[in-house]
Amino acid sequence: TELFSARKSCTTCPYCGVGCGVAATQALQPGDGDPVIRIQGDEQHPANHGKLCVKGSSLADTLGNHGRLLKPQLHGSDCDWDTALDYAASKLRATIDEYGPDSVAFYLSGQLLTEDYYVANKLMKGFIGTANVDTNSRLCMSSAVAAYKRALGADAVPCNYEDLDEAELVVLIGSNAAWTHPILFQRMQAGKARLVVVDPRASATSEMADLHLAITPGSDGALFNGLLHYLTEYGALDQTFIDNHTEHFTDALYAAAEWTPEKVAEYCSVALDQLLAFYELFRSTEKAVSFYSQGVNQSSSGTDKNNSIINCHLATGRIGKPGCGPFSITGQPNAMGGREVGGLANMLAAHMDFSDDNINRVGRFWQASNMAKGPGLKAVDLFDAIDSGKVKAVWIMATNPAVSMPDARKVAAALRKCPTVIVSDCVGDTDTARCADLLLPATTWGEKNGTVTNSERRISRQKGFLEIPGEARHDWDIICDVAHRLGYGEAFDYQHPVEIFREHAALSGFENNRAQTRRAFDISALAEISEQEYDHYFTPVQWPVNADNPDGTPRLFSDGDFFTPNGRARFIAVDPQCPKQATGNQYPLVMNSGRLRDQWHTMTRTGRARKLLDHSEAPEVHVHPQEAQKFGIEDAQLVRVESETGQFFGRARVTASQKPGQLFAPIHWSDSLAHNATVSALAVPVTDPFSGQPEFKQMAVNIEPL
Ligand code: SF4
Repeated sequence: TELFSARKSCTTCPYCGVGCGVAATQALQPGDGDPVIRIQGDEQHPANHGKLCVKGSSLADTLGNHGRLLKPQLHGSDCDWDTALDYAASKLRATIDEYGPDSVAFYLSGQLLTEDYYVANKLMKGFIGTANVDTNSRLCMSSAVAAYKRALGADAVPCNYEDLDEAELVVLIGSNAAWTHPILFQRMQAGKARLVVVDPRASATSEMADLHLAITPGSDGALFNGLLHYLTEYGALDQTFIDNHTEHFTDALYAAAEWTPEKVAEYCSVALDQLLAFYELFRSTEKAVSFYSQGVNQSSSGTDKNNSIINCHLATGRIGKPGCGPFSITGQPNAMGGREVGGLANMLAAHMDFSDDNINRVGRFWQASNMAKGPGLKAVDLFDAIDSGKVKAVWIMATNPAVSMPDARKVAAALRKCPTVIVSDCVGDTDTARCADLLLPATTWGEKNGTVTNSERRISRQKGFLEIPGEARHDWDIICDVAHRLGYGEAFDYQHPVEIFREHAALSGFENNRAQTRRAFDISALAEISEQEYDHYFTPVQWPVNADNPDGTPRLFSDGDFFTPNGRARFIAVDPQCPKQATGNQYPLVMNSGRLRDQWHTMTRTGRARKLLDHSEAPEVHVHPQEAQKFGIEDAQLVRVESETGQFFGRARVTASQKPGQLFAPIHWSDSLAHNATVSALAVPVTDPFSGQPEFKQMAVNIEPL
């Protein structure tokens, strides 16, 4: 075919938190032929320098309108936008008037762009008057957020991707980066670092590591308390850094004192010589990065686990320097951008907590009529409140909580009985959409316009290069139209996402000074960005981007000055806790859950590409051969896994990658794709006390062949 015109757009990948730059070329064909889309890595983007993993490079195969929600639907029938928006606004208004602002809630997603998040948060926290705005980032990152805030004074990732190139040791904790963050793993492999993997199961990542510590599930806190103890015993402390830039060191050391190598080895079920090899490697390697993800966070003590890791970096002064630092990696493409604008129920906006000063400050900036007075409900509590009838109207955007929440079938049942459920999504048939009375068609990747922030605090543009199909609309635009109908029109008169971005940037710097408040997140230098710069010349940049750092800030804390009120980082005394979902006679096995190499979330996009499905086509459960023999299970046999809350069916994959007593299942299937295929239905909804993040990695279960 002769192609007669081509247009290139630089955007970002919609999958993981690496945030790779993507160059999408759309070649138009003569006549009425569909445009040919070519996807390549963006060589100019600093996150990936032109590389893409199999998911990113298959993006063109996932495009098309099959399964798309193209018109609003009210009670299962198509309707026009006016009818849909009138319904949404009238239901919200009636609920608020009768039951108060806290009877309504928004549940958002790390798939949304920052501009979408900003207007949703502004509408709820500034004008409706409730902070019941939470996000699926709660399931992914919130323990990392809580730990950074406790230790560093702000939700501020110290590191950048160059640190992975420069490091001489990378310790991957609870991360199968070779599959979940492949481009970063390739960077590690290309660098000079030795790799240590801390993970209960063998994975593609551990196969390529110098050392694999297959610890008992949930024992990370003890492992890193033991490391702190070892570093102290063997003279690896940076006492000058501790004295000048930290506080509460002796408290953390006291808590760690009992964790001798012998005790840690026994508690974590690892060989003493392997444990000592890790401890000695960390002690003797100045340039050490700890790289951690959901295996640490999705725990009922995830915040403490994060802090036990950060403690070791503070004790050795290995933070704020090239090739060093505690580096939390986000799962979703815009988990961090959502946090920046207050996407978590316990945050206000621009990383501000709910102090009276902050409520007044944001209220002045927004000229808001009805500011929320305090934190709202975190995800698990929010869906409990829907179940109990306290929350009577919920608007869910770009996410599928009927699959992803713990005790997922109870969440679906709660939604089915909730008086008003509004769902905005790009696809029409998800487990959550089936619970909605109103479905709103939203734009998706390739159509949306705005910004995202990746794991190294880098803000990049996501750009629309495809024609918007049917009657789909941008999320920010839909929210603004509802805000108008609720009577808040003036504050939501945006015509283009750059207007939202400018306001967000201005708010981040509004009254941000050390005397009143010292916020890490400050992008006020971007508050005057023109539409042309935003659309055509936006350089991916790492926050803070302000008067002191107009070109951004690749690394934080180089000066040893932290975001706590006195500028000192805080050690946290950690008392390691066992998982709350305890095994016993009825449920003797520990079920772990996670991602596969080629799939993403509930497969609404990656499930469209044949070559991605080829990697694994159906729900599966990984079982150790010893366990398979004990329970009478053959490889590829259909099995039933049961917990206190539900059951899951999948094909057994008998593999020595699991330890005896442990199972693993991918998270991607759901009840709408296969019978009893929602893994998170097995999770009892226990949460971390600081972050509210649920425990998905240590579910107590039983298994039987079918
Ligand atoms: Fe996309 Fe992540 Fe793969 Fe990069 S590493 S191409 S962001 S899925």
